[in-house]
Amino acid sequence: MAEMSAAASAFAERAKEGRVELQRCDECGAFAWPPRDICARCWSDQLTWTPIAPRGVLLAATALHVAHDEFFKSRMPWRIGTIRLESGPIAYAHLSDNLSEGDAVRIAACADWKGRGVLVALAAAAVAVEDDPKLRELCLHE
Ligand SMILES: [Zn+2]
Repeated sequence: MAEMSAAASAFAERAKEGRVELQRCDECGAFAWPPRDICARCWSDQLTWTPIAPRGVLLAATALHVAHDEFFKSRMPWRIGTIRLESGPIAYAHLSDNLSEGDAVRIAACADWKGRGVLVALAAAAVAVEDDPKLRELCLHE
């Protein structure tokens, strides 16, 4: 596996199990994203993995038309976007095709085909990642 920081690996392990957890700073309470070794707000290294409310708002969306990964090449265009998580941070996520900027979204976590932890955003009313054909392929691979 490509080099992953300890924090990124810890996130990937949780994401693989479908757990949406972010590190929370024991000192100031801020949630961290992306996974890191110290708090960006107060520099404490006391960060604890904490389940978050899997909700947010889609701030901006874009579509990838060029990629190096074979997975994406065969699935262009691929939508990604920035989500303001209810717990505070802004995170990148893979997007369900039916989302528009400003939409309330539901967040799920999974590991992609390379074992990288990723966040995906679905319509707030969506039941599961399995309901979205593209995200199902991203998250549910052998
Ligand atoms: Zn802090």
